[in-house]
Amino acid sequence: MILDNKKASRSVEINLDGSRAVIAVAFACAIAAACTGRSDSGTAHPQVAPAPRLRVACTITTLCSLVASVGGDRIELHGIVPAGASPETFEPRPDDMVALSGASVLFENGLGLEAWLARLIDAAGGAGLRIETLSDSVPAADKASGNPHLWMDPVYAADYVATIARTLESADPQNASVYEQNASIETAKLVSLDGWIRYHINMIPRDRRAMICFHDAWLYFDRRYGIKDVGAIEPLPGQEPAPGSFARLIALAKANHVRAIFGEPQYSPKLADALASGANIAYVTNLYDDTLGTGGVAADYDSMMRHDVETIVGALRR
Ligand SMILES: [Zn+2]
Repeated sequence: MILDNKKASRSVEINLDGSRAVIAVAFACAIAAACTGRSDSGTAHPQVAPAPRLRVACTITTLCSLVASVGGDRIELHGIVPAGASPETFEPRPDDMVALSGASVLFENGLGLEAWLARLIDAAGGAGLRIETLSDSVPAADKASGNPHLWMDPVYAADYVATIARTLESADPQNASVYEQNASIETAKLVSLDGWIRYHINMIPRDRRAMICFHDAWLYFDRRYGIKDVGAIEPLPGQEPAPGSFARLIALAKANHVRAIFGEPQYSPKLADALASGANIAYVTNLYDDTLGTGGVAADYDSMMRHDVETIVGALRR
């Protein structure tokens, strides 16, 4: 899917299957009702309006995937940062204001990930907009580092799902039982994913469980699954490594026998490539963390995590 110039498609891209059709049908019905207001026989006919869906916005595609799973067909979901873009370097566009101004609920990650969001809310947030910070779902002691990438640990992702369900149930009590049921299905998937990841990470010999990544998105994942987080090239995307840190990272890679450096498709490969050459290790280009993939790869949270784990295991087992 092409993302750069397709803001209009972003809100449907992350919806569940069929929602594009639902929107189109609802729109056509609204037009027909507005234009005719009568049946073919000319008899006044009460219009049966479809129940309006709760309008929800979310910041990044990985979180939107969890929101979509819980909200199902009861919400109309608008994702702000498109797939393939970095939330840390994102700049909102005017049409994001339009979408946010009509939303009842906004899910953000927090912990400094969406530095641009406060301005967008000031410009567009309606008085009734309820803002839910999903990183608040995780106990303070677990996130003392301040690193925002909590969702990369499926156990924390399950905490996010519980918060999403609670929020939607409170904003739209009529559909509370649907949200509750969807959340329990998604939570069961996350529990199963956690077991699947453990099984596959165990295939990597213990002394090879070490990673260097492009940016520091893997702290919680590495901690959960016993992988040594040796470091990241950029502290945040767009922030060049501090002087001397590149040479230190090469030395750390050698000292820890790191077998691969993991990059992400949305970032320039230049630095990762140089590090891989300097440390004489493999460069793996395609991990996803802040964003889902494009073109059908890593299209939702579950498939993103499975793709990543298969990629990591493949690179570190060699
Ligand atoms: Zn990030």
